[in-house]
Amino acid sequence: MAKRQVLTGGIAQESHSFNPIVTRRERFTIVEGQGAIEHNRGANSAFGGVIDSAYEAGLDLIVPTLFRAQSGGPVDDLVFAEVSEIMVAAAKRGDFDAIVLPLHGGMLTETLSDPEGLLVERLRAIVGNEVPITAAFDLHAHVKESTLEPLDFLSGYLTNPHEDQSATAKRAFRAAMGILDGTFDPVLAATFLPMLTLGNDTTLSGPLVDIHAYAHNAVERGLAWDVSIFNSQQFLDVPSIGQTVLAYGNGEIDEARKVANEVMKMIWDYRDDLITKYPTLEEQLKDIEQSDRPIIIGDQGDRVAAGSPGDSTYILNYLLENKINVDTYFPIYDPDAVATCDRAGVGGEICLNFGGKYSSASPSVTAKGKVVSLGANVPVLYDGPSDRGTKTYIEKYAVFKIGNISVLLTNQPYSYMDPDYFKAVGLDPEKATIIVSRSGYHFQLNFAKIGHVVTVDTPGMSSYYLDQLPWQHARPFYPLDKIEYEPRQYTRRRLAGGCRSIPG
Ligand SMILES: [Zn+2]
Repeated sequence: MAKRQVLTGGIAQESHSFNPIVTRRERFTIVEGQGAIEHNRGANSAFGGVIDSAYEAGLDLIVPTLFRAQSGGPVDDLVFAEVSEIMVAAAKRGDFDAIVLPLHGGMLTETLSDPEGLLVERLRAIVGNEVPITAAFDLHAHVKESTLEPLDFLSGYLTNPHEDQSATAKRAFRAAMGILDGTFDPVLAATFLPMLTLGNDTTLSGPLVDIHAYAHNAVERGLAWDVSIFNSQQFLDVPSIGQTVLAYGNGEIDEARKVANEVMKMIWDYRDDLITKYPTLEEQLKDIEQSDRPIIIGDQGDRVAAGSPGDSTYILNYLLENKINVDTYFPIYDPDAVATCDRAGVGGEICLNFGGKYSSASPSVTAKGKVVSLGANVPVLYDGPSDRGTKTYIEKYAVFKIGNISVLLTNQPYSYMDPDYFKAVGLDPEKATIIVSRSGYHFQLNFAKIGHVVTVDTPGMSSYYLDQLPWQHARPFYPLDKIEYEPRQYTRRRLAGGCRSIPG
């Protein structure tokens, strides 16, 4: 038998409807071909999981392209069109047995509310119903009927903060191989509820521990072949936003349907517990001058990891107003300020205005300081565990020092999910007293070895005060609106020679 081949690639990003900065091509890390495979082997990313599965199975991968960007505003339509065309052209060339896609599932483009579904639909239209198409999504994906219709199987991360990206893609890969081998006949029971989780949605403690334990047990007992629980990204202003539970049976659906329904009922029953408030900045910084261990603060209101702009000055203004002058690394997105520092040069002492152009939570900062370093295209390698092995880079940066505060200005927004972002620009995380991250969950895993990690309740576009956002399409949803417990149901069966959906 000829060696099997699998087509992979696509585009992955998480969008924030209310961030006005369109995510353009320059924000993507673009890889393709054999180089991409070698570069990402062993990485704890969904793409890394596809690669490792292919090596384990001894088969070849075709990677026409993979665009990946950090979260941000909706993606430029032209970028999505470019990726679609490359993937469609590869699908037309054929010569593969299955398609396995490492996507995010929470992406928007300027005009599309389900680009992932559309990409898969286009591929399906070319390869027909015989070729299995499976995908791995982030736990924060917004999964709906149009996403599921063209997919034979979808798996989602089971951890938040995410530490099972590779394992999730391995499940998607295994499903595709099972379909080819005739050992897996996926029958999907999906259920959807217009409800958001806000704050108590880690899988390390609280309600999601019990919910995931129930799902895991159902898989162990053979009641379902696979179960995924998607707690949607909260900042997608699209219709039918909310929770999605998928349970796949192998050939039969009754038990899987019961599992999906039970998991959704648990989410609903825990709805009030899934909402919580974070500690305040004041509480966290009250004894900071006596602290002998770094504190790493997630700026909840301006999380680039959730698609926020990354230019909120709130925490910095708090430090300046309260005269907290300890060694601090404060990252902020401001391309104009980077250019100003560049003109002043290293050693230049200037009065600089920066930040607060998109985030309106706090005014921009104007302060005297010194440009201590400048650089461009410095590589960043995630030590993990979250996204361990991810290789990216900081495009242009300047470190501007105000007293003991090192302001890391960049011309692109970054999530600062891993200590290596600071190491890459010569700021040793071990030597700081305060480090600010623009992530809410994942940085906690990666910075735990450095010091005390905490996400604080700051205002901004990614805070959980959802009533302050200008929703147009997503409502009604819990908790902003009173809703009844009436989950939507969806069923999909893959039939020999064809796939079709069964009215739920
Ligand atoms: Zn996520």
